[in-house]
Amino acid sequence: MITLIAEKCIGCVKCVKVCPFGVIVMKEKKAVIGDGCTLCGACETVCPVDAITIERVVKDIDLTHYSGVWVVAETEGAQRVKNVTLELLGKGRELAGLIGQSVSCILLGNNVAKFADALICHGADTVFIAESEALSRYTAEGFQPVVTGLIAQYAPCIVLFGATHAGRDLAPRVAASLGLGLTADCTGLSILDGLLLQTRPAFGGNIMADIICPYTRPQMATVRPNVMKMLQPDVNRQGTKVVVPVSIDASTFRVAIKEVRDSCQTGVMKIDEADIIVSGGRGVCTNGGFALLEELAGTLSGVVGCSRVAVDLGFRPKSVQVGQSGTTVSPKLYIAVGISGSIQHQVGMKSSDTIVAINKDPAAPIFQIADFGIVGDYREIVPAFVAEVKMNGGR
Ligand code: FAD
Ligand code: SF4
Ligand code: SF4
Repeated sequence: MITLIAEKCIGCVKCVKVCPFGVIVMKEKKAVIGDGCTLCGACETVCPVDAITIERVVKDIDLTHYSGVWVVAETEGAQRVKNVTLELLGKGRELAGLIGQSVSCILLGNNVAKFADALICHGADTVFIAESEALSRYTAEGFQPVVTGLIAQYAPCIVLFGATHAGRDLAPRVAASLGLGLTADCTGLSILDGLLLQTRPAFGGNIMADIICPYTRPQMATVRPNVMKMLQPDVNRQGTKVVVPVSIDASTFRVAIKEVRDSCQTGVMKIDEADIIVSGGRGVCTNGGFALLEELAGTLSGVVGCSRVAVDLGFRPKSVQVGQSGTTVSPKLYIAVGISGSIQHQVGMKSSDTIVAINKDPAAPIFQIADFGIVGDYREIVPAFVAEVKMNGGR
């Protein structure tokens, strides 16, 4: 419930400017909240005199009132939908099937409505489309009130975000604004007794913790890119598109983004988008070790990744580290060279289609998850591998 204490209101109009749903008006120099408030919390945050309070009752709620699996979509501006959104839709369909509910997707941005069909083809039954120039690029102040407002209005049972830079910023803000919990960085999701079972590494990755949220709704989680498999698009799927009218004034934001810089080298494929990754660990951290891996990656049209040790020792940049504290990857082919296969490394690559391990220690744990294992010194094996690929015309 939202309450506006008229005696406290000093008529500064800040709440009117930030309300994305345009439900606050000024009457006789006092703010008045009309119908259609979604309890998004934007006005409460900006009011300088605490004249607005929102009470969200989380005790004794009727859990059966909440229905639907929601995915908060992420796009590269108006260029494309990020893969993690499609992966979450695939998982969302599976979860929704298990609890007999539907899948919805929130699509925010500017000129993004064109992606709604693709989201439906990948599993969404309903797409909520909120477009505004102020949503052209991700900002917490622009996105959070809209997402919170829609969740408060439609009461989904489960909400999933990508554990990307933006998702990791947005999800906790939405959770806090609704007074809910959030499981960050999940690597697995399933249903147990009707509840969302959220699996994530804990205690430095040494155990996998299963987390449930039995008392509040929605159950919210962020999920790492490249962990879930996206569905094959079905062009015959039908869905509903709901246009959400929003009026957002970016000039009211407290933070302005001046410039966005991509730290990845121009023209070099990002590790989480590569089909083939040749990854090196401590065993390769010698002079010329990674040069050999680059040659192999070049022959296969792949990219070079690494374990954390290779980053810590200064052989590779952090941007190509695979694993729990690096990037999660899911290429068609992952070649692990001189990597022992710690749990923290495995978490970031074990969903690769085919894993090849090259290691001189036959007891290395990486062999337990490898489809093909080669025991030996990489300095002999990798050049032979390169020669063989070249003889067959490369890739
Ligand atoms: P090692 O475990 O030392 O293995 C080196 C391997 O190279 C050995 O198996 C050896 O047999 C083999 N070898 C040596 N010489 C040769 C040769 N000539 N030819 C063939 N094989 C050879 N690690 C990550 O990778 N990614 C992460 O994101 C990550 N996050 C972490 C987060 C936390 C909180 C913690 C605590 C740790 C994290 N780690 C991470 C570190 C992880 O625990 C391991 O220490 C690390 O993965 C080991 O890297 P490695 O396999 O390269 O080295
Ligand atoms: Fe305030 Fe949000 Fe309700 Fe508008 S929709 S009145 S900003 S809580
Ligand atoms: Fe009144 Fe607060 Fe709104 Fe300003 S932000 S108009 S003080 S209710």
